Amino acid sequence: MLRFFINIILVCAVAVAISMQDGIVHLVRGDTSIDLDLQTALALLVIFILWWWGIAKMWFFIKYGFDRIYERRLRKQTEEGVAAFTVSLNALAGGDLRTSNKALHRAQKLLGDKPLVLWLGAELATRRGDEKLALQNFRQLASTAEGSVLGWRGLLQQQPRRDSAAVLRLTQDALAVDAIAKQDFAYELQIMAYAQQGNWAEAAVALGVAQKNKAVSRAREQKLDAVINLKLADNAHSVENKRKHFARAQKLLPDFVPAAIAYARFLAMEGDKSLANKVISTAWLLTPHLDLLDAYQEINAVEDDLKLLQMFERFAAKRKDSVATPIALGRLSLRAKLDARAAAYAQDAIDRRATQEACMLLADAMRQTNPSAAQEASHRAMAAVAVGSYVCSACGYAAPAWQAVCAHCGKVASLDWNDEPDVKLPVSTTPVLLR
Ligand SMILES: [Zn+2]
Repeated sequence: MLRFFINIILVCAVAVAISMQDGIVHLVRGDTSIDLDLQTALALLVIFILWWWGIAKMWFFIKYGFDRIYERRLRKQTEEGVAAFTVSLNALAGGDLRTSNKALHRAQKLLGDKPLVLWLGAELATRRGDEKLALQNFRQLASTAEGSVLGWRGLLQQQPRRDSAAVLRLTQDALAVDAIAKQDFAYELQIMAYAQQGNWAEAAVALGVAQKNKAVSRAREQKLDAVINLKLADNAHSVENKRKHFARAQKLLPDFVPAAIAYARFLAMEGDKSLANKVISTAWLLTPHLDLLDAYQEINAVEDDLKLLQMFERFAAKRKDSVATPIALGRLSLRAKLDARAAAYAQDAIDRRATQEACMLLADAMRQTNPSAAQEASHRAMAAVAVGSYVCSACGYAAPAWQAVCAHCGKVASLDWNDEPDVKLPVSTTPVLLR
């Protein structure tokens, strides 16, 4: 502020000093010449500057003023469009499809075919059962640069799973887009379609491409790789190929019970009983599963029953925490005709959790000594739940036996063994991937 006043005073001083000067300004242009006194010349100069300044100002207004008015209108239109979009999105979430549709039309009018508007249009059309319109929106969305991932995801979700050849064609088109090649969903669907065809070799190729593009997480990649190798081992004709794929599946996931069992059986058949037992015991330490006990008994069928019990006790002791351990030891005790010991193990198991297997074991152990108690235990077994089940991580479907492909949603390598009754499982009423 102070500097401003100093400047004003300086300018006034200069003006006064000049106006007090006597003198003539002599302007010559060609043949004409004008004589002006200094004050008039100065006044003309100021008028000249002001004139140019006004013209410049007007020019700026013409050039940018209209743009600014247009911008302001556009901003208002965008704001109203976003508000309509939000209303539509909220109404859709609340299930009010009519309001959602109305607001969406307004948003469309104000915002045009923006990727998010297209996406909402597709979602709304899906909810209203208008598959054709949904596909049209998703296709348009997929063709935009910013919306390609959302669009392709929608297109792939809309694709019926029954026709695996059509699924493969669509995933191929999707994976040709760079942004999609870095996402996992197209590969998951491709692997699902190959699994449906029983073509596990191609599923392995698809997983390889996904790995190269870093599209799947390390844990998911391992699980898929292990399941595919187990399937390749099952289908392999030569012993060498079987061994290679079984060994790879086991190495990738040592706690993958079905792979451990299949590999151990294969090894036992090939005469390598000690490695077979090692595979079983390693798997038991990681995931105590009663199917492992069955395979163990089968592999060591020639052994003395008591010796078998002692051998199993040695590594089972490390997983005393598991409810499967006393059941397994009880079953082996029963096999060795140690009924009282079997009953004690059964009681231990029931004290932890009254599972079907534990109650059944107690019934078997008491059959000779106390038939009425045995009958009561077997009744209890009928009402009890199993020790665990295989649960799909994608849809929550539970199955007693392992499957490479979820029978409910079709996802590959999604079933995990679960024997913790308190774990809250994901439960969905509509399959995630299967339509
Ligand atoms: Zn599932």
